[in-house]
Amino acid sequence: MTKKKTITSLTTFSDLSLSTKVLAAVKVAGYKKPTPIQLDVIPHVLQRKDVLGIAQTGTGKTASFVLPMLTLLEKGRTRARMPRTVILEPTRELAAQVAENFAQYGINHHLSLALLIGGVSFEEQERKLERGADVLIATPGRFLDHFKRGRLLLTGVEILVIDEADRMLDMGFILDIERICNLIPLTRQTLFFSATMPPEIIRITEQFLHAPKRIEIAQLASTARTITQWLIKSASNPLEKQYVLRRLIEIEEHELKNAIIFCNRKRNVSELFRLLVKHNFNAGALHGDMDQHTRMAMLSSFKDGKLKFLVASDIAARGLDIPDVSHVFNFDVPIRSEDYVHRIGRTGRAGRQGKAFTIVTESDKKYVQAIEKMNGENIEWLYEESIWTQFDQEKHTKAEQIKSQRIIQKDRSEKSNLSLKDKKNQENETIVGFGNDIPAFMLIPISCN
Ligand code: AMP
Repeated sequence: MTKKKTITSLTTFSDLSLSTKVLAAVKVAGYKKPTPIQLDVIPHVLQRKDVLGIAQTGTGKTASFVLPMLTLLEKGRTRARMPRTVILEPTRELAAQVAENFAQYGINHHLSLALLIGGVSFEEQERKLERGADVLIATPGRFLDHFKRGRLLLTGVEILVIDEADRMLDMGFILDIERICNLIPLTRQTLFFSATMPPEIIRITEQFLHAPKRIEIAQLASTARTITQWLIKSASNPLEKQYVLRRLIEIEEHELKNAIIFCNRKRNVSELFRLLVKHNFNAGALHGDMDQHTRMAMLSSFKDGKLKFLVASDIAARGLDIPDVSHVFNFDVPIRSEDYVHRIGRTGRAGRQGKAFTIVTESDKKYVQAIEKMNGENIEWLYEESIWTQFDQEKHTKAEQIKSQRIIQKDRSEKSNLSLKDKKNQENETIVGFGNDIPAFMLIPISCN
């Protein structure tokens, strides 16, 4: 009787029919065994099947499609302006990150890769396309721009990857995705990944995937045991929120190696960044309106440890693989509960300990409740009142200090006016007014309340 080998019984990368070149790169990366999503996705990609992967970042999702793609790309050759594979990512940073992964896993391949993202010039990208690219990694807008400029021939695309589809939906790219799906020949293989499956995404998968293999990986536990989570009260006034944040950073000083501080709006990111820099914090900022060069520079400075704090918006930070972040601060409570999971998931990675603090105002409470409902447990409150009181006290003390400072200054200028007058009088031969004898009461400084 032959023993049937099932996929789940396979535990090593060499059991997955990946090429020798890919296996060598995986070894260099130091991966001991495939993650659950890699175990499920890789065999189907190699069999040229469409895949619907419901999984988040942090699960090893990128390698689950890049490793088999590299294996498949070993057959065939590049032609000018005719990419063989296309990977669509919602943000420039994610696209750049996937490109890095491609280079890492493709270290033994001589494949050409073009990164088509906004915020950088078209010329260099066009030169790459002209020379021929095996792999295009793109954000939807820039991809369509190149297509409209006549720089892309899509008839040779064998594999289309749509990554983070729900994020594309949130960012308003879904029409672009549909357009791109219609531009690429139906003979292609489609690999589609999304962390959640809202109705619009289901509709797209029904329309564009052909008998896909559905692979669902359990949500990354929002309640990852390695992350300690806290809520802190604040009033909605930005000054007080900023104060609370600075106090928290001080309190955590000894454990804080580096931190991402999340804001809901780009404007808040910029404001908070400026404030932190003003207070001598070693901080950078990351949001969608910044030019691409600055965004990449900020990100790599943070990754390299040159920046201790990164103030970021969700769009800029979603899915980024920044290992070893000790703290996450939510300056604003995220409106969507899933964003909370993504934000705090930037810390406590790969079994390390992490801390996540969320500043909560009265009007945020409904969002906190939704997060707690999704997590299935309540998040503890830290310093329900004390930071507040300290804020008030400090504000008070500050006001007092300013007041006394003003008194001192006024006092000094009065005195110096008087002594000037005194000097002048001495210089004057004609005695005026009180003469040389100024009454003592006139020399008493005037107090001003
Ligand atoms: P991703 O979900 O693709 O963002 O991957 C998250 C992190 O897991 C990345 O830092 C990868 O380098 C890492 N990773 C991917 N596959 C494996 C594996 N099989 N073993 C260990 N780490 C992995």
